[in-house]
Amino acid sequence: MNLFELTTKLMEIPSVSGDEEAVGFFLRDHLQALGWTVELQPVSENQNNVIATLNDTPRVWLSTHIDTVPPFIPPTEDDEKIYGRGACDAKGIIAAQIMAAEILRQEGIEDIGLLYTVEEERSSTGAKAANEHPLAANCEYLINGEPTDNDLAIGSKGTFRLNIKTSGKAAHSAYPEEGESAIEKLLDILDDIRHTKFPDDEFFGATTINIGVISGGAALNVIPPSAEAGLAIRLTTNREPIEKALASIVRDRGEIEVLSCSEPVRMLEVDGFDQKVVRFTTDIPHLPNWGRPLLLGPGSILVAHTKDEFVLKKDLETAVEQYVDLTKRLLA
Ligand SMILES: [Zn+2]
Repeated sequence: MNLFELTTKLMEIPSVSGDEEAVGFFLRDHLQALGWTVELQPVSENQNNVIATLNDTPRVWLSTHIDTVPPFIPPTEDDEKIYGRGACDAKGIIAAQIMAAEILRQEGIEDIGLLYTVEEERSSTGAKAANEHPLAANCEYLINGEPTDNDLAIGSKGTFRLNIKTSGKAAHSAYPEEGESAIEKLLDILDDIRHTKFPDDEFFGATTINIGVISGGAALNVIPPSAEAGLAIRLTTNREPIEKALASIVRDRGEIEVLSCSEPVRMLEVDGFDQKVVRFTTDIPHLPNWGRPLLLGPGSILVAHTKDEFVLKKDLETAVEQYVDLTKRLLA
C-alpha cells in the first residue's frame, strides 16, 4: 500500500471521536502485517490507543490522533489532492508517519515507536491514558503530528474553556420591574469581556476569546431567570492572569465554571526547518511523560474541521521525508 492508498484507506473508516474502534483495529492489523509489535491500550469500552514498537525501549516516537471531528466525509482524490474528513487532520499524517517509520526500519533504525491516540478532538482522554503508559519513561522525543503546513511548530497556544452563568428573577414580561433579566446581565458581562484587552505574550502572540455558545431564557413573554455563555480562550500566558481578569469583570453579576484548561507549550527548535507558533492546542500538554515534544505535519489547520478538508499529495510526500530526517537527527 503506498502513501496515498494508506491515507484514503484510513479515511474510508469513519472515526469521529467516540467511534475509533474500527480504525484502531485496522491500524493494528496493518502494522502487525508489516512486522511491528502492536498493543491496543484501552481508554474506554470501545476506544483504544494504538502503540507500535520495533524494540523494547524506543527513544523517538511519532504520534498523532485517530479520531476526527464530525461529520464523516468519505475520501475523494485527483492528481494533486486528497479530499475528505481526516485528509490532513490527521489520517494523512498517520500514513506519512507509517511510511517514514518503514523507511527508517529498512535502514536498520529500530529505536522508534508509533503512538496513535483516541479522543484528541474532544477531551484528550486517549493522551491522558497514554501518559501513564510505561513506555513513556524511555521516550526522549515525541514528534506529534498536526497540520502545520510542514513547518516545525515551536510553540502552541493553550486553551481555557469555561462557562459564565447568570441568574435573575422570572416575571411577566409586561411588568419588567417585577423581575430581573439574566440575559441582560449576561450581555453586559460579555460586552465588558469583548472590550477588555487581555495580556499577550511576545513569543506566543495574542490572547483571543471566542464566545462560542450562548443560551438562556424561558419564553418571549417571561423575564429570563437564567442564562449561560461558553467561551474558549486561546491562552498565550498561564491561566492565572486571565482568570483574575475575568473574575474582576464578572464580579457578583454571575458565576464562572471552568471546563478545562491546557496551558501554552514551547516545543523543541531544530535548525533547517521553517518554524512558527501555532494557535491551536494538541495532545502534547497531556503527554508530559513522553520526553521533549516537537510538532510537525502536512496540511493546513485552516481547512481542518471544515467540509472542504484536503491535503496536497506533494505535502504528504514532503512530510515523509521530514519525519525521516527529523527522527534521524534526534536519534543521532
Ligand atoms: Zn488534529
